[in-house]
Amino acid sequence: MELTDLTAVQALGRMRAGEISSGELTRAYLERIDRLDRGVIQAYVTVTPEHALEQAHAADERRRAGDEAPLLGVPMALKDLALTRGVRTTCSSKMLEEFVPIEDATITRRLYEAGAVLLGKTNMDEFAMGSSTENSAFFPTRNPWGDLNRVPGGSSGGSAAAVAARLAPFAIGSDTGGSIRQPASLCGLVGFKPTYGRVSRYGLIAFASSLDQFGPLTVDVADCALVTGVIAGHDPLDSTSLDAAVPSYSDALNDNPPVGSGEDLRGVRIGVPREYFVAGMESGVEQSVRAALDVLRGLGAELDEVSLPHTDYGLAAYYIIAPAECSANLARYDGVKYGYSAPDAESMWDGYYKTRGRGFGSEVKRRIMLGTYALSSGYYDAYYLKAQKIRTLIKQDFDVAFERFDALVAPTSPTVAFKLGERTDDPLAMYLSDVCTLPVNLAGLPGLSLPCGLSEGMPVGLQVIGKPLDELGVLKIARAYEHAGGWNGRRPDLAS
Ligand code: GLN
Repeated sequence: MELTDLTAVQALGRMRAGEISSGELTRAYLERIDRLDRGVIQAYVTVTPEHALEQAHAADERRRAGDEAPLLGVPMALKDLALTRGVRTTCSSKMLEEFVPIEDATITRRLYEAGAVLLGKTNMDEFAMGSSTENSAFFPTRNPWGDLNRVPGGSSGGSAAAVAARLAPFAIGSDTGGSIRQPASLCGLVGFKPTYGRVSRYGLIAFASSLDQFGPLTVDVADCALVTGVIAGHDPLDSTSLDAAVPSYSDALNDNPPVGSGEDLRGVRIGVPREYFVAGMESGVEQSVRAALDVLRGLGAELDEVSLPHTDYGLAAYYIIAPAECSANLARYDGVKYGYSAPDAESMWDGYYKTRGRGFGSEVKRRIMLGTYALSSGYYDAYYLKAQKIRTLIKQDFDVAFERFDALVAPTSPTVAFKLGERTDDPLAMYLSDVCTLPVNLAGLPGLSLPCGLSEGMPVGLQVIGKPLDELGVLKIARAYEHAGGWNGRRPDLAS
């Protein structure tokens, strides 16, 4: 076994036992990145070797001094929309190509305090708008599974590809409509979007503020619980952050029922939303998900079908609300405050046109135009207001379902990873990638994707959706399934 095969929990065990140092572990990742990233997987926009080795040595010092911080010495990758002081943060946009933040995002700070070591910043769809990472202004990222000509999903595709290719033991992504769960599904990983407000958004470069949420991409549920525990919690710097106690997810999973007893989920009521088995779903995906439902039943869970009747309107409502918020959030890129500024501007207006015309890619421009239109007087009532009403109905569907069920289980993505270029000319086909994930964002719920099989040799994801703030309930179901389903921890063999 190579050092880069270790999960975060396993690496921590070896470091605690004094068998390896963070310095060694970090160097192993940096060497692998050198070999396999640029020109092959292309998961990273920026690699930070000096920074990483400095943090690794500091972590080794801390451990020698008796420090037992929860991620002490574990390397990680951050999606390139999490602010990192002194490290370029681009959002995979020309607009921020040279942007070096003067402060850390709250999660960056929390992860550093927990002892994590930054390997670099990962590629994404520009400003997190997309489902394939092909909207990056720099280069596409490849899915490490299969013949390397498929997308890793998006928008956190760089984070997912980095973990799947063992170029980082875990990574952070962000999820506005599915951008953690869908790439986790397409790359065979565990990806978790916590409850809206559970994790601080301070220092997350905003796309749609009422939907955006940070979360981890990991190899298994134990790592997911560990990282979620580190990043969750109230933050006075984010006014939407929830002031609710955070249970120790890792301890709770460890103390809890004997995994492998075969009855780990006895009495847990799980709803299966009928509407998530959408038309156009690949049969291999449906088979894997249905087989996973049988596994959950075998573990003692009580499964029943449930209807979330407004699901059909989710996509339409999301593609009004998210662009509307983006059109406001992205107004700040005006060439004056920070970011790209057209050097040849002849007047104030000319400066805006040139800066925004050149700095943003076509998908970002499309979203700004959609959003501005939906918010404009005369159309506001017809589009934005109606979308907000649908959002409430979608939330109510979940509320009703949660009167009967402890959690819901559904597919994450209707298809496995598609080919690079396959959907780039058809925005609507791309938008449809997220039909199963975006209602969860509209309702602010926790949603996790974990691997449940292969179809055409590519990973399939199972989505577990929980009640608000019930991250622990979601993690318990995921771990029980992971143990019984036998799909955890598989990563593609890149040697071939
Ligand atoms: N794919 C969706 C979009 O393009 C969701 C993106 C996200 O979650 N950041 O908006």
